[in-house]
Amino acid sequence: MPDQQLISHTLKEYFGYDSFRPLQQDIITSVFAGDDNLVIMPTGGGKSICYQLPALLLPGVTLVISPLIALMKDQVDGLLANGIKAAFINSSQTETEQQDIYQKLSDKEIKLLYIAPESLSFLDVIFSQIEISLIAIDEAHCISAWGHDFRPAYTQLGYLKNRFPKTPVIALTATADKATRQDICDQLNISNAKQHLASFDRKNLSLEVRPGNKRIEQIIDFLKDKPNDSGIIYCLSRKTTEMLSEKLQNQGYNAEAYHAGVDHQKRSYVQEGFINDTIQIVCATIAFGMGIDKSNVRWVIHYNLPKNIEGYYQEIGRAGRDNLPSSTLLFHSYADVVQLQKFANMAGNQEVQLAKLDRMKQYADSLSCRRKILLSYFGELIEENCGNCDVCKNPPTFIDGTIIAQKALSTVTRIKEQEPIGTVIDILRGAQNTAVYDKEYQNLKTYGIGKDIAWRDWQQYIIQLINQGYLEIAFHQNNKLKLTSLSKKVLFEGEKVSLAHLKEFEKVKQATVVK
Ligand code: ADP
Ligand code: ZN
Repeated sequence: MPDQQLISHTLKEYFGYDSFRPLQQDIITSVFAGDDNLVIMPTGGGKSICYQLPALLLPGVTLVISPLIALMKDQVDGLLANGIKAAFINSSQTETEQQDIYQKLSDKEIKLLYIAPESLSFLDVIFSQIEISLIAIDEAHCISAWGHDFRPAYTQLGYLKNRFPKTPVIALTATADKATRQDICDQLNISNAKQHLASFDRKNLSLEVRPGNKRIEQIIDFLKDKPNDSGIIYCLSRKTTEMLSEKLQNQGYNAEAYHAGVDHQKRSYVQEGFINDTIQIVCATIAFGMGIDKSNVRWVIHYNLPKNIEGYYQEIGRAGRDNLPSSTLLFHSYADVVQLQKFANMAGNQEVQLAKLDRMKQYADSLSCRRKILLSYFGELIEENCGNCDVCKNPPTFIDGTIIAQKALSTVTRIKEQEPIGTVIDILRGAQNTAVYDKEYQNLKTYGIGKDIAWRDWQQYIIQLINQGYLEIAFHQNNKLKLTSLSKKVLFEGEKVSLAHLKEFEKVKQATVVK
C-alpha cells in the first residue's frame, strides 16, 4: 500500500484538493488493501476519486464500467486535462481509434480505461496482455432489477469477478436501498464487499407534499416568488410534459418539454439552455436529469407521484447541489397511485414494485417527519425531526404512542421478524385465522394485547413506526417486518414514541382523494 504522504501528494497534484471528504480516505485505503467495496454516496459526494486516485498509484490499468456513453468523452477529457492517462472505448469509435487504444494499453500508457458494459467484449482480445489492477463499476444500481434504473447489459458484469478473482472491485452508486445493495453485491460476486454508506441527508432541500388538485394553478402560484429560479417539473407521461410546458409558456415562463420522444437536436437544445440559464423550467419525464450537472436548480416539482422512493430521492436531489436552500414539492393523488399500480402489475417482479409503490404512497400520506422516512429508507436513522418539511412545519396532534410501539415491536421480536404487517396486526388483535393458527401464534405472550385498537388504526400506527425508523419492511422477503437499531431503544431503553392522533389520518385521506 502506498504511504499516506504519497496519497496526499497525489490528491493535491492531480486533483488539486488538500484533504479528503468523509469516507473517501477509508474507501481508498480499503481499495489498496485489495478488498471489494460498495460505495453509496449521493451525487456530488465525490465518488470518482475513490477509484481515480488508486488508479494512479496501482501498477496496472483500472477499468471503469459506466453506462453513460455520452459522458465518457467529457470524463476522459477532464482527466487528460489534469494529466491523468485515460481513454475510453465504445462502439462510436472507428477501428483505427480502437487499435490506437489497444496499442497504448499494451504500452502501459493508460491508467484509466472507461468502457460501457455493452462494449466489454472488445477487450477480450487484449485481456490476457494487460494487467488490470482495479475494476470500478459506476452507477452500479443499474445491475439490479430491484433498483430503479435496470440495464440488462449490466447483468453480465458478474463474470468480471470470476475472470479476475484477485482484482478488487469497487462498485459505486448514488441510489440503492438495503435490498438493492445486497443484490448488487450478489450479482457482482462480491458478497464480502465492504459497504460504505455516506450520509444522504440534504438539509437544504425543503420537502413538501400537497394534494394533487388544481395542480397547474398551484404551480403558477408556487412560481410567483421564483420568477427567475431554475426548476424541473417531473411528470409521468410525455403528454403531460408538453401540456404543462405550453401552459407555462402561455403564462410567460421560459419552459420546455423534455422526454425520450423528443428528437435529439431539441433535447440538446433544452439541456444546454437549462444548464446555461436561458431556459428556466424543464417539464420532463424521468428521462431528464441523469448526467446533468447544474448546481443552481432551485426547485423540483413532482406533478405525479413517482413510482418509488429511490427515484423520487434522486430526482429531488437534482435541486440545490450548491447547498443553497431549495424547494421540492410533490403532488399526491390517488389517481396516480392507481395508474402506477397498473404499471407495476405489468412489470417483472411486480410484488417488489408494488411494495415500493406502497412505501412511496405512505411517504406522501405521512404524518411523520418526511426526511426521517427518506433517510430511514436508505438505512440512515436520525432521531431528531428535520424542521424543514411540511409535517415538521405544521405538525399533527400527537399522542404518546410508547405503549402501542412496545406492543408492536415486541410482537415482531417474538415472531422472529418472520411476518408482514397484516399477520402482526392479526396477532396483536387476537385474530382466529389460519395465518395465526398455522404457526401457533395464539400461544404468544403478545397475542391479543392490542384488541382495543381497530385493525385499520393498527395499520396506520405501524406505518408510522416504519416511517419513524422503528421498523422496516424487507421487500425481498415477502415484506416481512424487521426490527431496526432504533427498535431496541423503545423495547429496552425506555425511549418515548410519538404517534399522530387517529383523527389526523382522516384529514390526509380526505385531502388526497379530491381530484
Ligand atoms: P459523484 O461522482 O459522487 O457525483 P464527483 O466525484 O463527480 O461526485 O465529485 C463531485 C465534486 O466534488 C467534483 O466537483 C469534485 O471535483 C469535488 N470533490 C471530490 N472530492 C473532493 C475533495 N476531497 N475535496 C474537494 N472537492 C472534491
Ligand atoms: Zn421534517
